[in-house]
Amino acid sequence: MENKNNFNYLLADLTKLNGVGKKTMEILKKKKVNNIFDLLWRLPKSYTDRTFVTKTCDLLVGKVQTVRVIALKYQFPRVRNLPNRVNCFDSTGKIDCIFFNSHEGYIRKILPLNEEVTINGKVSSYKGRYQITNPTYVSHDSSIVETVENKYSLTEGITEKTYNKIINQILKELPILNEWHDKEILKNFDNESWNDAIVKLHDPTNIENYKASFYKRLAYDEIFASFLVNSEIRKKIKKIKKTSKKFTKKSYNEITNKLNFNLTNDQKRSLEDINKDLNSKSKMFRLLQGDVGSGKTIVSLISALNVVSSGFQVALMAPTEILARQHYMLAKKLFPKNISIELLSSKSENIEKKRIVKELENNKIEMVFGTHAIFQKKIIFAKLGYIIIDEQHKFGVRQRKLLSDKGGDDCDVLLMSATPIPRTLTMSVYGDMDVSIIREKPSNRKEVKTYSKLESKIDEVIEFVKKEMKEGNQIFWVCPLIEESKKIDHQSSVKKYEFLNALFPNQVALLHGKIDNEEKEKILNKFLNREYLILVSTTIIEVGIDFPNANVIIIENANKFGLSQLHQLRGRVGRGIKQASCILMFKSNLTINAKKRINILKNSNDGFKISEEDMKLRGFGDLLGFKQSGIKYFRLADPIQNEDLFLLAEKQINKIEIENINIDKYKSLLKLYDQADIINDIV
Ligand code: ADP
Ligand code: MG
Repeated sequence: MENKNNFNYLLADLTKLNGVGKKTMEILKKKKVNNIFDLLWRLPKSYTDRTFVTKTCDLLVGKVQTVRVIALKYQFPRVRNLPNRVNCFDSTGKIDCIFFNSHEGYIRKILPLNEEVTINGKVSSYKGRYQITNPTYVSHDSSIVETVENKYSLTEGITEKTYNKIINQILKELPILNEWHDKEILKNFDNESWNDAIVKLHDPTNIENYKASFYKRLAYDEIFASFLVNSEIRKKIKKIKKTSKKFTKKSYNEITNKLNFNLTNDQKRSLEDINKDLNSKSKMFRLLQGDVGSGKTIVSLISALNVVSSGFQVALMAPTEILARQHYMLAKKLFPKNISIELLSSKSENIEKKRIVKELENNKIEMVFGTHAIFQKKIIFAKLGYIIIDEQHKFGVRQRKLLSDKGGDDCDVLLMSATPIPRTLTMSVYGDMDVSIIREKPSNRKEVKTYSKLESKIDEVIEFVKKEMKEGNQIFWVCPLIEESKKIDHQSSVKKYEFLNALFPNQVALLHGKIDNEEKEKILNKFLNREYLILVSTTIIEVGIDFPNANVIIIENANKFGLSQLHQLRGRVGRGIKQASCILMFKSNLTINAKKRINILKNSNDGFKISEEDMKLRGFGDLLGFKQSGIKYFRLADPIQNEDLFLLAEKQINKIEIENINIDKYKSLLKLYDQADIINDIV
């Protein structure tokens, strides 16, 4: 058979299947089913058992049943809109088959008089007679009808019958793939082969059998594939040879002497990781992960100065202009005066922009700050040696790889992210990078006090706000997130703004999704400069901006957020010396489960721990806000239920890396499972 051993069959176009034409293909494409392989992962939800044959005397109205009957008489009314009818019987009674839209000839063919046929369909009763309208199955061959058929969540335009035919065809034609896993690994799954596992996956008796070996094997396949892709990218980047950066302790002392605090141990350790990479002869591709406010910026600036002192240029990219400006201002304060640094802003005069572009090309600028604009084509760096990317956790693997390629071989890359992710997911999300983690908070940091309040108690909240304002503190007021409608989000924030502005005239600013970027930055700048004391906004408060004077954050309808999100929002305050507060507002009394969740938040300030607990309570879903990133979602694997499989895969990847094991035997696994098509670059 042509398909055996040929996994390309699985990647083939759907029209390769019998019974799938252009129309069906288009329908399935809309459901992101692009090839035969994709179809395998649409699992049956339940099944219809037609194996039980009922006598007509035992029929139950309203149920789908199978009967074996003999056609006795046709009634073809030849009047428009009246259905054709066939009177049938068995040894115990009578039943009629009713056909709408079926031609006489067709009916005579499938239901010839005086012959036994097997019929399946939903039984109804009309004027005291049993009938089946448009039977699903009519056949002389009872074995065709008397089967167990899976029910899939179907797409309009495809019938269950067609769909099952397609799936059964694929299962029959499955290529026999060479086993890619080691014997040791397979033992964990009762040596279940991929083929057997796939067949079992579609076996109706296995529906929801998540704990079975076949299911775990398939889940492991996809976890392992995702880890392996990342590991291969990492290896590939590490192989890139570069000129190592040479520097002394001078930059470090220069900056730390200007600080009125000491670096935390984690900050120092991360800096050591980075310096080691900069020093080495291979390209750095590292993630600096640390909770909001853990002090990543200073680490990146010290390393940047090291690179500058080694004679290379540095580019720092932030997601927004305001954040880029903030980093720029900090560098201006901390860097020695003879270092030339610039901010490339969309707001600068054209002449100014042209000058910066020219000076970057002439190696007159040593470090540039900006948004993604600093990576436009027209910007050419004379000697770029280091790219720092802040708060771009939504970048997927491919985007990261592109960035890393962009700077050329001599360019090291550091990504910074405040989005803590559960440990099980680290390898699938960031496995292409080396990771340094800052867990420790600066010692001067007071924990943000977290309260919950019913919305009906808003008066108390207002009193609290008044008191804080008197002390000169600033307040974030985050409005309910109503996912169903951006328009309502907008309206509710406008309403809240009006309400607060009436209480505190001229002291309230408003931000929502409809305000354009330029205006948004203006408002944020004014808030930063304390022209307003309250900022009402939807959830768009910028990540990363340091508002040392903001002390209170009020989050309405807090149950609409995941814990990680609440934690991130809460992290916007408490950067200064004063005690900060976070007030979570709720529309109604909390359920026990909701109370549990909120307590996790009240009792912990560790983003990693919170994200893990959050994932346990809410599931994987979009808890990380990674949806837009192109980061893969697993089809079967579940980071909570299958934690053991994630750990097993991680162990195996480490083994492959350490023992430098050839990955040839995994190639078909990778080609089948990787959706990011980045795999073509590496395999
Ligand atoms: P993030 O990790 O969220 O990017 P930032 O780098 O913006 O955090 O730092 C937040 C604030 O903490 C800044 O005002 C910074 O000056 C301060 N900071 C950084 N490191 C320390 C430290 N070791 N001790 C005290 N304050 C620190
Ligand atoms: Mg930051």
